[in-house]
Amino acid sequence: MTTHLPQTTGRQLGRRSWAEPWKIKMVEPLRMTTPGERERALAAAGYNTFLLRSEDVYIDLLTDSGTSAMSDRQWAALMLGDEAYAGSRNFFELQEAVRAVYGYRHVVPVHQGRGAEHLISQIAISPGQLVPGNMYFTTTRAHQERAGGVFVDVIIDEAHDPASEHPFKGDVDLGKLAALIEREGAGRIAYVSLAGTVNMAGGQPVSMACARGLRRLADRHGLRVFLDATRMVENAFFIKEREDGYADKTVAEILREFCSYTDGAWMSAKKDSLVNIGGWLALNDEALFEEARGLVVVFEGLHTYGGLAGRDMAAMAAGIAESVDEDHIRARIGQVRYLADLLGAAGVPIVRPVGGHAVFLDARRFYPHLPQDAFPAQTLAAELYLDSGIRGMERGIVSAGRDPVTGDHHRPSLELTRLAIPRRVYTQAHMDIVAEAVEAVHARRGEAKGLAMTYEPRHLRFFQARFERL
Ligand SMILES: *Cc1c(COP(=O)(O)O)cnc(C)c1O
Repeated sequence: MTTHLPQTTGRQLGRRSWAEPWKIKMVEPLRMTTPGERERALAAAGYNTFLLRSEDVYIDLLTDSGTSAMSDRQWAALMLGDEAYAGSRNFFELQEAVRAVYGYRHVVPVHQGRGAEHLISQIAISPGQLVPGNMYFTTTRAHQERAGGVFVDVIIDEAHDPASEHPFKGDVDLGKLAALIEREGAGRIAYVSLAGTVNMAGGQPVSMACARGLRRLADRHGLRVFLDATRMVENAFFIKEREDGYADKTVAEILREFCSYTDGAWMSAKKDSLVNIGGWLALNDEALFEEARGLVVVFEGLHTYGGLAGRDMAAMAAGIAESVDEDHIRARIGQVRYLADLLGAAGVPIVRPVGGHAVFLDARRFYPHLPQDAFPAQTLAAELYLDSGIRGMERGIVSAGRDPVTGDHHRPSLELTRLAIPRRVYTQAHMDIVAEAVEAVHARRGEAKGLAMTYEPRHLRFFQARFERL
């Protein structure tokens, strides 16, 4: 498998190179900025990369959400949008794509992932019930809590250690889950919330063995398992590479098998499915589906469009099929790994193993002289933008917010700067530029003095906080 991935050393005789499995038909010009322009833009943004105008960004690695490049087939599908209020042809195409690729019976379209999280939380959680899961995700937990649920983390301990090389750091610790069921009783548990590749742990996958074991445990106690399928295609690729018995299966086969151990799923199609907006909720249970189909009308739109235009559903159906193409997924994860290999070879500290959608710089080890109160990961994101107009995102003490009781900062053990790679948008040459910029910032690391927060919003402060240089 590794022979298909990009090579990072200089040109050698007999070398067989690797390239993106697409060619470019339409281009979007990038704007290069001068150091003076970047200095002014970042000061105006309060040293927070979320507050930059995208026009002032050269290579945008803020997120892989909704930032993918659609294929010519997806753009063509947009022109075949059936914008009927009810019964759009594109809804049936979407339903067919989800049934064929993910294997679930019933499909409810929604405007994006959190719309589906809202629906499933409202219909499957009673106030006071527990929702065990493999680490939290921001919007998922928010909807579970709004429905009166209490999230309980049952991920394996290795997930919290940035240096652990465990191949499936997203696995549920079945012992922890069994103990929770034992202690609280199955009746207190709403369902098991399983995420394929765990974003907050650095894009770490879940093994098939874990999914199978989880199904057996859930069946013994009559519990349901619902899957956050947002990056489940990337998860299936890791199973193919790392788990015994899957090397000769297709990513599509692995995905189907994994989903078969769950009772339903929610999806942000802005990630794996290569669209700029869209999502769905899928359920096998008839009664739950009836409830979801009723509720979607209140919050999203009729059950055959769920807040989307017909053309959005058409592009999503096409994107679902493309997302399980072997060349596509190998190139997608290969590009992330290409950047990680360049950085690793240059001695830049990153989270290992490298996940599916982003490279996470370990800001604690990058700036060992900066205390966490000087916001090392925020500083690193700012320095990277100043160096070359590349935009990443803080995932550390700023994102973690404050303890509502003591009022002090949460101090997470992971202090990371995330470089998320949009799908099919940038080339290897862009990744070279990114690696060289990070290396240049790393070479000057001793000069960094950190930041002070000058404005702090009360909720989700990382989006709008402002800083100044110390
Ligand atoms: C993005 C994301 C969501 C929420 O989806 P939106 O489309 O942004 O509403 C849920 N779970 C995971 C793992 C995600 O990455």
